[in-house]
Amino acid sequence: MKYFSTRGGSDETLTFEETVLTGLAPNGGLYIPETIPSLPQNWQNEWMEYSFQDLSLEILSLYISPNEISREELQTIIRKSYESFRDDQVTPLKKLDASTYVLELFHGPTYAFKDVALQLLGNLFEFFLLRRNARKAQTETPEKLTVVGATSGDTGSAAIYGLRGKANVSIFILHPKGKVSPIQEAQMTTVADSNVHNLAVKGTFDDCQDIVKELFADKEFNAKHRLGAVNSINWARILAQTVYYFLSYFHLRKQLSSSSSFEIQYVVPTGNFGDILAGYFAKRMGLPMGKLVVATNANDILARFWKSGKYEKSDSTSPSADGDATEPAGGASDGKQADGVKETLSPAMDILVSSNFERLLWYLAYENTSNGQGVLERRTQACKTLESWMASVKSDGRVQVPTEVLTAARRDFIAEKAVDMQILQAIKAHFLAEPSYIADPHTAVGLHVARAIAKQNPENTVQIVLSTAHPAKFSEAVTLALTSQPSFEFDSVLPEEFRGLLERERRVIDVERPESALVKAVIETQAIGGKGQAEVATASV
Ligand SMILES: *Cc1c(COP(=O)(O)O)cnc(C)c1O
Repeated sequence: MKYFSTRGGSDETLTFEETVLTGLAPNGGLYIPETIPSLPQNWQNEWMEYSFQDLSLEILSLYISPNEISREELQTIIRKSYESFRDDQVTPLKKLDASTYVLELFHGPTYAFKDVALQLLGNLFEFFLLRRNARKAQTETPEKLTVVGATSGDTGSAAIYGLRGKANVSIFILHPKGKVSPIQEAQMTTVADSNVHNLAVKGTFDDCQDIVKELFADKEFNAKHRLGAVNSINWARILAQTVYYFLSYFHLRKQLSSSSSFEIQYVVPTGNFGDILAGYFAKRMGLPMGKLVVATNANDILARFWKSGKYEKSDSTSPSADGDATEPAGGASDGKQADGVKETLSPAMDILVSSNFERLLWYLAYENTSNGQGVLERRTQACKTLESWMASVKSDGRVQVPTEVLTAARRDFIAEKAVDMQILQAIKAHFLAEPSYIADPHTAVGLHVARAIAKQNPENTVQIVLSTAHPAKFSEAVTLALTSQPSFEFDSVLPEEFRGLLERERRVIDVERPESALVKAVIETQAIGGKGQAEVATASV
């Protein structure tokens, strides 16, 4: 299996290894597989009793050539990646009522769904680098990877836990000093591994992001340190996430009597479109399901797309939208303006544009090419179309896709939003329901949307809402929703690991001004092989 960029460009296709180590294509595109593999005959019976790890091995093997990673090697990587999960099933399915289930994705080390993918990504990075270095002569400098990222909270800790202690990889995570939640800050900065570096930047999240962009754009610095990204554009993250769609399908089949027919509707709290895109791949591979439901918060660019076919940063139909939409959002100003990201109770979904949506747009563009052409011609055509759409988003802040494309998008997806008040109501309603369930505010977006669309569903529909974070991670929203409930005690949802976390020793480097030069200086001294480090990590597999 080879991969290519959604924006075409180079005629070369990449191996899985190159795809994972490169992350974002040099032309700004995202990598997708040359074909979407179909499932082996008889998978429905053969995989029925498989564990998360067994399914992961089967599904990942369809996307990774065995001459790149052998089956045994892949099995080891998968086993290591999910050892850190607290639940035997990795992603257990819990029943709320006859037609509603939650698929809990938060049993990894940082209590957020991103662990499912980042644990695997860390082990893939390590595997590739150790293998490359083993092939080198002793006199050659070993290859290394320097992961740099900005976080407002959630991604940072999942990335750190994915990469801590990995050979030949160092990780630098920038956060705005004093502006991430205390629990999240503690989760990141109490990790003691020597390859983990937290930088507390005096400035905003946008400052941190700008610095990271500057570092990546500096060709010399980038090449010297081989900068790597772990954000959700990395293909391996999408791939890792397809597995729980399959697992939940089998778990549901076992819970429902085998004679009853049902149609699954996955409801996915969505920000950058990575989680739900994995569901789209599962569907295209042949996993039986109804429509996938995109559940957004007040940052509803996707919900608006499915209404109008317009992919537009600011809502031009809303009376509150002021200013010229053609001005790139966040351009000159430093604050979060009417055109910018709205702060909500579900911060991990606060986005202006959804980076992975580009991958879906590519498939929609491909479908809309003329059938008369050969596959390669159609592919080139789709890349061209996609490139023009993305250029339009960049220059005008928006693009309108043709009607046929919107129709195609509606065949596989429904999209709805939930605002903060509805998030709070959903948390309360499910707390009071029987069985009582305490949802985090991201999961609550999904629960609200699931309820709102349920009446239009065919009778045999079973909704599976993806639960993306543990409620204790977002204590503010949960407490706000349940404060008037006498039977609610926040302490009861607090995991053991969170107790005493705030008092533990921190490792953090203060960056006094939001300047890329200061961050570069830290990386120069702290990265593997840098002046501050005596030796290159020599951990073995
Ligand atoms: C990242 C995240 C999401 C959004 O997932 P995407 O793949 O970006 O759509 C939802 N909930 C939580 C808790 C997250 O951390």
